[in-house]
Amino acid sequence: MSSRYDILFQPIQIGPVRAPNRFYQVPHCNGFGHRMMQGMAVMRGMKAEGGWGVVCTEETEIHYTSDLSPFFEGRIWSDDDIPAWQVMTDAVHKHGALAGIELTYNSHDASNLYSRASAFGPRSSGITGGSGYEPGQTRAASKDDLKQVRKWHRNAAIRARKAGFDIVYCYAAHNMTLAFHLLSKDNDRSDEYGGSLENRTRFFRELIEDTKEAVGDTCAVAVRFAVDELLGADGMQFDGEAHDIVAMLAELPDLWDVNVSSWKNDSTTSRFEKEGNQEKYISFVKKLTTKPVVGVGRYTSPDSMVSAIERGIMDLIGAARPSIADPFLPNKIKEGRPEDIRECIGCNICVTGDTRFVPIRCTQNPTMGEEWRRGWHPEIIAPKKSQDEILIVGAGPAGLEAARALGQRGYHVILTDAKREAGGRVALESALPNLNEWRRVIDWRLTQIQKIPKIYFYPSSPMTAKDILEAGAPHVILATGSTWRRDGMGRYHARPVPGTAKIFTPDDLMNNDLPSGKVLIYDDDHYYMAGVLAELLAQNGCEVTLLTPAPTISYWTQFTLEQDRILKHLEKLNVTLLANHVIATHTPTTATVTNTITSAESTLACDAILMVTDRIPSDALYHELKPALADGRLKSLRIIGDAEAPNIIAQAVFSGHLAAREFDEMIDPDLTPFKVER
Ligand code: ADP
Ligand code: SF4
Repeated sequence: MSSRYDILFQPIQIGPVRAPNRFYQVPHCNGFGHRMMQGMAVMRGMKAEGGWGVVCTEETEIHYTSDLSPFFEGRIWSDDDIPAWQVMTDAVHKHGALAGIELTYNSHDASNLYSRASAFGPRSSGITGGSGYEPGQTRAASKDDLKQVRKWHRNAAIRARKAGFDIVYCYAAHNMTLAFHLLSKDNDRSDEYGGSLENRTRFFRELIEDTKEAVGDTCAVAVRFAVDELLGADGMQFDGEAHDIVAMLAELPDLWDVNVSSWKNDSTTSRFEKEGNQEKYISFVKKLTTKPVVGVGRYTSPDSMVSAIERGIMDLIGAARPSIADPFLPNKIKEGRPEDIRECIGCNICVTGDTRFVPIRCTQNPTMGEEWRRGWHPEIIAPKKSQDEILIVGAGPAGLEAARALGQRGYHVILTDAKREAGGRVALESALPNLNEWRRVIDWRLTQIQKIPKIYFYPSSPMTAKDILEAGAPHVILATGSTWRRDGMGRYHARPVPGTAKIFTPDDLMNNDLPSGKVLIYDDDHYYMAGVLAELLAQNGCEVTLLTPAPTISYWTQFTLEQDRILKHLEKLNVTLLANHVIATHTPTTATVTNTITSAESTLACDAILMVTDRIPSDALYHELKPALADGRLKSLRIIGDAEAPNIIAQAVFSGHLAAREFDEMIDPDLTPFKVER
């Protein structure tokens, strides 16, 4: 039967290879890297199984002199690396998809902390890789060095072909690679690689030509090129030099994969950018080349994908995050069930796999990163092992996911919540400024729950221990969440902050109890909450000061690539920012704050204080019900999500999913419940 989405399933010729459809998983980091290649390979294979026609690696180092440690990226330094890559290409080919590899040689973005080699750059300049502030500089690449890099790139391309790759990248994006730095403002060379645009393009052109000559008969040669750095005239611009570079190289590669730079601009969170946000930058490319063009923009709607193709923006729909949140997105469209797509919420927890050096995780897809080590499949789950009924109390992200996954297993599930609406913290948080896409965590789960006949949801049903026991279900899962502390205790203060000021918590604000006048926000949480609430209060006319014991505001948001935008936003809203400060005491009109470095005290006038510190797990029911477990009135009792240990939403969803997978299983607490790569 034909559908308006048929165009998405047309095969596309890319040089000598043919992609089976237009779904293209662009290169993305995953935290597995060269250290955990089995986990990486099975995760990539899952995308192919779910219908992605092209599945690429992450940045892959071609030589030890460009070592991206402490990040774990791909590595193809020698033939010894080939077998591990073959596991990935086999996993991808098994489902009829093409495998692409993003070869990279970085200049000052390579820290070389592991190899201890001197990195090359267009000139000698400070290292920007690693933490961004690693001590040390590159050396200026000689012409011989550039020749060497070309040779290493060529050798890596040949190895990639041996490993089974179908698409080999020449990479000049994200403000990371030598090719990009030679193209851009970093290049002040006076030889034939510097000066005129033609000269600065020389190295990139040579890389493409070399790669074509080495593997172009059987592999497609793709380029990844960042057409704008969002730095105005100080950087690459889509309507400036980028336009001329694409025009110069238009027909040379077999495919153009175009985006904006740096990574924080490419992978913006939904708080700051919406679907299709890169279109205005990349749309010129297709006008200059006959070769297929790939672009990204966190497309999760098939209608937007079709529209991007029909409007001539791109030929293949590139995706990293939408393929992480739902590896089976293409198949769901093909099977005529787009409502089943688990849409990415744009939170960038996936990015923190890379930035915190651990396997990738995802808020929406709890199986992401667990494919190999736990054997989890995003669409398939073991069938039930008994007829037992399960009562779940609390329909936040943990309870909703536990109910959904247990229902998918075939169990009879009763889900209750005290509130009229499902969603718990997500229902509240997604109503905060610019977090509306987070509602997708609830919407997807409710859509699925409605499709599963044996899940019964009872809203407006607060449960006591007595109610729970009278309900008669032999198994109880408590997903009762947590509440924000009012006393200022957290990482910094081990005791309540003494004082008499009017104190608010995030729960108060999210339930529409807002302070007015001068408000001091004390942030010992360090993620998004304090910044979002500062925005809410500023919008409501409050005069806001945000202080934190951390050395920077919203410290952890650097790992989701949002910190710069948050700071800019708060500055624009006239929020006063005070890092390295804690609240010591307070009165109804003042707070005494202490500088954590100098111990200097100062007094700030305030009408109210908003404490964004620790949370208190709502675990009273658990303790009340434990005797019922001990005396056999309950067969099992489990506490999950924030009620067990407050954490991010991704962890609540994971916790609910884990409870569903482990239900009716014997779990040996002395054994590690997943495989470990060594
Ligand atoms: P999590 O992030 O762990 O899923 P949330 O705080 O988002 O936790 O959700 C907890 C949900 O549990 C809230 O919707 C809350 O209304 C509900 N809840 C808490 N205690 C009870 C109770 N005793 N009876 C019914 N629902 C409850
Ligand atoms: Fe999307 Fe968040 Fe999942 Fe990343 S972690 S894929 S941004 S939902």
